[in-house]
Amino acid sequence: MSTEVPSIFRLSCKVQEYPWGTSGESARVAQYAAATPENNFKQDMKQPYAELWMGSAHPNGPSTALLPNGPKALHELILSAPQKIYGKALNRLTETARQKGQLPYLFKTLCAGKALPLQIHPDKKLAEQLHKENPEDLPDDNHKPEIGLALSEFWAFASFREMKVIRQSVERIEELKEALGDSAKQFLEGEESEDKLREAVRTVLQRGKDEQSKMGDLVKKLAKRCKEEGDKAIGGADVDKGLAEAFVMLNDDYEGDAGAFICAFFMNLYKLQPGECIYVPADGIHAWFRGDCIECMANSDNVLNSAFQEIDQDTLDTFNKAVLCPTDHSASKYFVKTEPFTRGGASNSTRYDTPFNEFDLIRTQLPAMREETHGGIQGPSVILVESGSGTLKAGDVTIEAKPGVVCLIIADVELKITASKEGMQTYRCFAE
Ligand SMILES: [Zn+2]
Repeated sequence: MSTEVPSIFRLSCKVQEYPWGTSGESARVAQYAAATPENNFKQDMKQPYAELWMGSAHPNGPSTALLPNGPKALHELILSAPQKIYGKALNRLTETARQKGQLPYLFKTLCAGKALPLQIHPDKKLAEQLHKENPEDLPDDNHKPEIGLALSEFWAFASFREMKVIRQSVERIEELKEALGDSAKQFLEGEESEDKLREAVRTVLQRGKDEQSKMGDLVKKLAKRCKEEGDKAIGGADVDKGLAEAFVMLNDDYEGDAGAFICAFFMNLYKLQPGECIYVPADGIHAWFRGDCIECMANSDNVLNSAFQEIDQDTLDTFNKAVLCPTDHSASKYFVKTEPFTRGGASNSTRYDTPFNEFDLIRTQLPAMREETHGGIQGPSVILVESGSGTLKAGDVTIEAKPGVVCLIIADVELKITASKEGMQTYRCFAE
């Protein structure tokens, strides 16, 4: 029996309770989850809530379509009417996505109460190989380039700093030099190179695993100095402003973990304001650090962690081999470009043009009592009401909007967003 597919429908979304999430009254993921009664969500004030997976057909956190005649698993609905839901995007889907009724992207609200594991997401070729070898740890065969778009002030470690800056830190900070052990000399001398950077990262992470207590003492010793002396403890250079504080926070999050050396002194620390967005290419190193963001990625849940949790040797080896160690270490390169989104006469919307095929985003900021029409998008999209209230209308369906409401809009239909007197802000993820 075929199900009728409305132009827009609400979604019931899965909450992920990873230990690094946020808890208590300000936990955004919990607030959003509670906005949809069908989620049957009751917040436990002590429990950290990390992510809300919005519009997912991924087996690790599938969404449910809430239809007039009852709920239906999103992937089943998609498989029952692929042409109608995907539109032209159907031609660009991977075979797996098409067979499984998945969207090309995974759209999440993410709240970091402490640092996430230091990680990369494997590129497509590596993901295919690892998934074949070890499907339990690598649940799919897709790559996972991703973005982090700040909802609150959002801190993230991502990409490597310029090697000359890392070298200065190693020279100035005794504990860091000691963490590199015998390889400090090689890292500090001669031409800068990807190999030297890779070897230094490998050494610190490997020693963090093999010589945990020794490395732990070094981390704790530096954290103590940072607490007492502030940025002076790490050389006091302009480029290091605030890093002493960040290092103390990392040690508070995961006491004595050598990953803190890599994050604070090898990587860029982004302090994003709401609406600012960075991207991480496949194999790019990152650890989200504090605050709330929209995280969006190609449809995959593959990750290789290298610090801030128990790490097995195989994973660490694969991480060390795969991690991108580019020589053009410019931090600004990773900001996602924005431009006005004007299709259908929209004038309060901004498009985030990601460097990836799988998805782009639109942020709409509507003042009180205003409305905005988005012209049809040639693929399925998922919209999150971030704040305010009003209505969302597509075809002949109107949905009451409030923070945390998540809807799917099928391909090629106009969307009308109307704000109440408190205004409304939405984020919409799409592929076309
Ligand atoms: Zn990630």
